[in-house]
Amino acid sequence: MALPKDFPISTRARLSSPDSRCKSRCATIRAVSVSSLSAPEIGKFRRSLLTWFAACKRDLPWRRTKDPYRIWLSEIMLQQTRVAAVVPYYESFLLRFPDLLSLARAREEAVLSHWAGLGYYSRARNLLRAAQEIGARYAGRFPDERERALSLPGIGRYTAAAVLSIAYEKPLAVLDGNVARVLARLGAIRGDLRAPELWHNLEDTAQEMLARTMPGEWNQAMMELGATICLPKSPKCAECPVAKWCQARKLGIAEVLPEARKKRAPVQVTLAAAVLLDPRGRTLLVRRTGKDGALFSRMWQFPAIETRADASSKLAQHLEEVFGVKIADEGMIRLQTARHSVTFREIRLESFLIPLGRLPKIAGARTPLLGRFGKLPVSSATRKIASAAIVHAQKQDPTLAKALS
Ligand code: SF4
Repeated sequence: MALPKDFPISTRARLSSPDSRCKSRCATIRAVSVSSLSAPEIGKFRRSLLTWFAACKRDLPWRRTKDPYRIWLSEIMLQQTRVAAVVPYYESFLLRFPDLLSLARAREEAVLSHWAGLGYYSRARNLLRAAQEIGARYAGRFPDERERALSLPGIGRYTAAAVLSIAYEKPLAVLDGNVARVLARLGAIRGDLRAPELWHNLEDTAQEMLARTMPGEWNQAMMELGATICLPKSPKCAECPVAKWCQARKLGIAEVLPEARKKRAPVQVTLAAAVLLDPRGRTLLVRRTGKDGALFSRMWQFPAIETRADASSKLAQHLEEVFGVKIADEGMIRLQTARHSVTFREIRLESFLIPLGRLPKIAGARTPLLGRFGKLPVSSATRKIASAAIVHAQKQDPTLAKALS
């Protein structure tokens, strides 16, 4: 059975394996070859979405500007991160780096310290590298050509399309998770949307649907629909401005689309970390480049080692071999275990407080007061370990508690 004539999506996606909830309704739909909307109908579809967006869009700081640098920054910060979490970081980052050239001139450490807590720190490193390149090659102006934008570190097809359409009105459609979900439901498309062929088809579809006279508004409207109405778990179809064109709603399968992706199984990791502490409350932070450093986003961290068993012995051995610090078992106070996630890794943080008369002298290391990291960029894993150590000190060691207060 062919889909109805007014079906808005032009795609070569295949529908397969209907689940039990919609089997009877989908069973007759297999390979989909869809006719596009008629020109007047696609016009109505676009008007409906754009009118809704103009009336209902959220007032977000990056929507009050056409500055490509600010739009680019927001797009990078919003990757893998919720809007509510991004807003304060976005605003404070811009206070410190108000334009692209001020960012291009910054040291990586300063950029990371303004990113600390937002996670996925490779975004900040790439942002800085791209700003430096834009400063050197394009006189500090974000390029308005797609290929040039794509050649910059950390900028893929989605980000290039978002910045260029919103800042420069280039007719490039975005496809992110929100837009893909909306398209999948509008077309009742099954399967793993991230499978390369299906994703390419969705990109083509998004590009066909783009309102070319106002691509920036259109892209934001599609993303806003996915973020506020066509929600992953409970789409608000009764409030949806394009419900009349939605095949998933008609078939009653909106809630089961898109189909769940096969997730990568989480990898369990145990890290043993050492909070070396002198009587004044100073601790030792190092910067590591290997695998252990990656688990702390290659920022300042406590000395740590991945371990499978007997965390204290492995850590003592690590401290002796790498830092020349000899610690007896009885000198290690086990702290409350904390948990932390980095992408697919679930990390168990086994931390030990190790009071010392004097901190070892390690080239390049830092010795801040425990928990007072100031502008040093540290990951949230390091902050969790520091908090566990401070809690212990406050309960068990009045002298240390005083030093840390
Ligand atoms: Fe999403 Fe429902 Fe709108 Fe369809 S009708 S696009 S499922 S919110």
